[in-house]
Amino acid sequence: MEWMELDGSRGEGGGQILRTALSLSMITGIPFAIEHIRAGRKKPGLLRQHLTAVQAAAQVCGAEVEGAEAGSQHLRFRPGPVRGGDYRHAIGSAGSCTLVLQTVLPALWFADGPSTLRISGGTHNPAAPPADFLIRCWQPLMQRMGVTLDLQLLRHGFYPAGGGEVLATTAPVSAWQPLHLDTRGDLRRQSVVGVVAGVPVEVAKREMQRAVSQLGVLDEELRVLPSNEGPGNVLLVVLEYPEVTEVFSAFGERGVPAEAVADRAARNARLFRNSCVPVGEHLADQLVLPMALVGQGSFTTHVISSHLRTNCKIIEEFLPVHFVFEESETCIQISLARPQI
Ligand code: AMP
Repeated sequence: MEWMELDGSRGEGGGQILRTALSLSMITGIPFAIEHIRAGRKKPGLLRQHLTAVQAAAQVCGAEVEGAEAGSQHLRFRPGPVRGGDYRHAIGSAGSCTLVLQTVLPALWFADGPSTLRISGGTHNPAAPPADFLIRCWQPLMQRMGVTLDLQLLRHGFYPAGGGEVLATTAPVSAWQPLHLDTRGDLRRQSVVGVVAGVPVEVAKREMQRAVSQLGVLDEELRVLPSNEGPGNVLLVVLEYPEVTEVFSAFGERGVPAEAVADRAARNARLFRNSCVPVGEHLADQLVLPMALVGQGSFTTHVISSHLRTNCKIIEEFLPVHFVFEESETCIQISLARPQI
């Protein structure tokens, strides 16, 4: 099969180009060569998270790989058949477990049998989906598309220590279901979750109080973890609608008041709540790959990120699909069109 040549500096220029290429190469059998990996980032090339994604992908499909070294900006990946099994990988830093899961899981949906995938590293990282986002927002939507998936957060891991762990149990998909997520229904419940590990509980309480004052009445959950799972602090705002649950997060940082952390999560939650769409900015770029695997589907969102545009372009290179963006005054609808002849 002919090699697909990819430029990792294109568009968004981050790790998603590589992760999407890995997933779709495993699924389609198309080998790829990528240059300028993560050229748009401060520390370009393969970090431990990306390296683990490459190694995990190579393991599930017995791929031949060149260039899989820390800092490498190029990679060649020739996949073999995807095999179900029990897989385990340690990122060895606070690199995101959830991004590694999202790379490998789609391939396991096309494997020859069921799988478990256990990844250790960071579970709650800024600039990646927190494990709670994957479990509460992304997983139910995958299930609606016909995927058998059970995600468990075994242990929290925060930047910079890592040491968290997530376990995914999945199986080949027998019947894909198209997802049309164009409306969300009325808000059913909003909750705020304050998480602290090795950080004073008062920090989470102040964040939660501030979020409540910003967003109105919210159910409250305080998660005080053993201090050896930290240090770490995250505030989650969870908005539940009949069609979707969205999760907004903000991380505590040294020198940043708890109230300012809460304001960040509350601002994004409020922006979403004031819109009428079911899909927020981050979910949008994480929905397009599974939707393309189904071959049909649509959703509405309120913002088009460069992650979303870049991911759609890479997907269109591997699969015979075409994404159509239609903007109206209140939202943007993204739908899959039939292959162009
Ligand atoms: P990259 O920057 O290429 O490594 O991709 C980061 C991925 O993490 C994208 O899929 C983002 O949508 C996702 N992401 C970043 N921040 C969040 C967040 N707060 N909640 C959910 N997903 C996120």
